[in-house]
Order: sequence, then structure tokens, then C-alpha cells
Amino acid sequence: MASCKLCGQDADSLKKVKIEGATLKVCDSCSDMGEEVGTSKKRKKKTRSRSARPRSEKVLVNDYGSRIKEAREEEGISIKELADELNEKVSLLSKLEKEDLKPDNSLAKKIEDRLGIDLYTTPTVHDHDAPSSDSRKATLGDVAEVKD
Ligand SMILES: [Zn+2]
Repeated sequence: MASCKLCGQDADSLKKVKIEGATLKVCDSCSDMGEEVGTSKKRKKKTRSRSARPRSEKVLVNDYGSRIKEAREEEGISIKELADELNEKVSLLSKLEKEDLKPDNSLAKKIEDRLGIDLYTTPTVHDHDAPSSDSRKATLGDVAEVKD
């Protein structure tokens, strides 16, 4: 049989209560004097910090220049023809192909659309709860689970 640390009374069950900074095991009636601690009754506020998680932003591939060049040559068009089609300067495109210059988003998109290539990639994030974009896509159609 345990006894209350406050009133000394024997009690069947004691509660851990914080009273004036000290945690004491007290009886039911004394527990009103303090704040109950360490029980499941206490609300557990779980704040998971996610700030460290990098956003899965797309990044320009390292070999964007050769990708553009190869795709362009496969199409059998010159840099000038491509530049004309995209309404861009030849010098700009040749810089891109030499990887002297990185295209901005809108230009990259234009090139991607015209040549049917991908200039951006999603970096692999070593994060245990980050499914790959492929599996995320695959489950999109399966989310509509009907429960009766
Ligand atoms: Zn007591």
C-alpha cells in the first residue's frame, strides 16, 4: 500500500502531480492541488518538425546541353532553325548546347516541348517517407477506395 506524499493517507492508487515545481505521488483528493503529470490523460501535442525536409524541386539536368544538341540533330535541324522556331537567338541556343548558359524555366520549357526532351529532373531525396514521384503517380488512380 502506498501513501500520499502530501497528506500521508494510504491510497489504492497514487497520482503523479506537479505541485510548485515538485513532482509528488499523491492521493486522489490531493491531486487537485497540482497539475497531473505523466498520465495518458495529458494531451500529447506532437509537433513534427518538417523544416529539414527538402522540397522535391526539379533541377536542370547536368547534361542539358548535349540533350538539346542530340535531340536537335535527331530532328535534323540546325541551331538557326531551332532558334527561329523558338524565337530565340542562335547565340543563346549555342551557348545552351555548350552548357555555357543555363536556360531559364520558360526557355527550357519551350525547348522541352519542341524537341520532346526532359531538361529537368527531380533529385533523389534520401528520405524514408518520400515515395518516388513514379509511385505517387501510380497510386493517384487508386485513391478512390469505396467503403460500404
Ligand atoms: Zn493526499
